[in-house]
Amino acid sequence: MNRLRAEILAIGDELTSGQRLDTNSQWLAQRLGELGVRTMFHTIVGDDLAACMDAFQTAIRRSDLLVATGGLGPTADDLTRDAIAAATHCPLELRPEALAHIENLFARRYRTMPQRNRVQAMFPRGSRIIPNPHGTAPGIDLYCQFQDGHVCRIFALPGVPAEMTEMWNGTVADRLRQEMGLGTKKVHYRQLKLFGLGESDVEALLPNLIERDRDPLVGITVSRATITLRISTLAETIDEANHRIAPIMEEIREHLGEFIFGEDDDELEDIILRLLSERRQRVGLIEIGQHDIAAKWFRQKISESDVESCVRCMRIETIEELCKSSPLSFERTNIDWTEIAERTADDFVAQKQSDWVLVVGPYPKDQMIPILDNLPELSVAIVVCGPDHRKWTKSVRPIGHPDIVLHRIAKQALDVLRKAILESDFNPRA
Ligand code: AMP
Ligand code: MG
Repeated sequence: MNRLRAEILAIGDELTSGQRLDTNSQWLAQRLGELGVRTMFHTIVGDDLAACMDAFQTAIRRSDLLVATGGLGPTADDLTRDAIAAATHCPLELRPEALAHIENLFARRYRTMPQRNRVQAMFPRGSRIIPNPHGTAPGIDLYCQFQDGHVCRIFALPGVPAEMTEMWNGTVADRLRQEMGLGTKKVHYRQLKLFGLGESDVEALLPNLIERDRDPLVGITVSRATITLRISTLAETIDEANHRIAPIMEEIREHLGEFIFGEDDDELEDIILRLLSERRQRVGLIEIGQHDIAAKWFRQKISESDVESCVRCMRIETIEELCKSSPLSFERTNIDWTEIAERTADDFVAQKQSDWVLVVGPYPKDQMIPILDNLPELSVAIVVCGPDHRKWTKSVRPIGHPDIVLHRIAKQALDVLRKAILESDFNPRA
């Protein structure tokens, strides 16, 4: 990462009121990140002069680079120009070349420029124009130097996303590279995907790797029980980046190998489709209950590309009839779901419809999901049956946030299948 500390300032009542999502800040932070610049603050401020001025003053004191978006229009609620002028003590002055551009835009549309658009040609003294080829709001590029030596570069861009992105790509990115010493390096990254561990377990198992000042930087995020480790570095070329990233990936694999199921954008279902297609095998997937979470994931992938031809027939079946009983009957009656799942798998294997069978269930019914914590005796069976009738059985507690509990079960099931396929490679039965 670069040593520059950036701040993004989004301006508009529509943002602070929650009427509109501030997507510009996300986009800008991603672009800064690609250049190796770390964004330390996202600030959102409403269309109020005093508040905007305050936000600019705070930002330019604590950041080396400030990218503002919004408030450059011609109307009375567009206050960015005035706020910058007041915060930096650089009074506004008319720029004839900006005025000519705005007048010209109107002329091309067979209109005369309304007087109020003249304000868009006013710029803080000492600033440079950021051209806006298709809009009437040119951006402001201002370098501020404080008496104590601190400097901050301000780029103020319009809020209209199409204009903002065009101006970033057309002007701001080049100025950052050429004038702020970012050069032509880019952030490159690889990802490792893990399942079956919590975030803090990962951190504990990876001593010192998840520190902020490392290069390559290792970041950890979690989404629906899948953990992603992102290993990133700033480099001129992909080869140079990979040269630095590969040893870190290797080190992580040494510590967490059994939990790592894939790389980059892999999901568990991608890995299973890959393993099956490499072996020219197919799986029968049986999900018991109201849900068919794993089947949906596979269907998405299969319709996306033509994996179907490699996997050939993927049979997906939901056994609703096993769950005809009332919603809360599972924990009251002593149904042995593992036994049912095993029997179902055996039946399926006997039909010789697939090399592998995965049975998972019963998924908790929707009515039960909010009260799962009160039903500690509840469990979900996962049974995998392989080409040689070998079985892998696991019983899992349906735990976690109600929003992800079903996903976690489906992922646990796919992970048992993944490990079973890999294990039977290394340890085939005679
Ligand atoms: P402005 O430049 O403030 O006149 O903004 C023009 C329009 O751009 C607004 O009405 C919003 O629809 C959109 N906009 C402004 N700021 C943002 C933002 N941070 N994220 C997404 N859209 C925005
Ligand atoms: Mg606005």
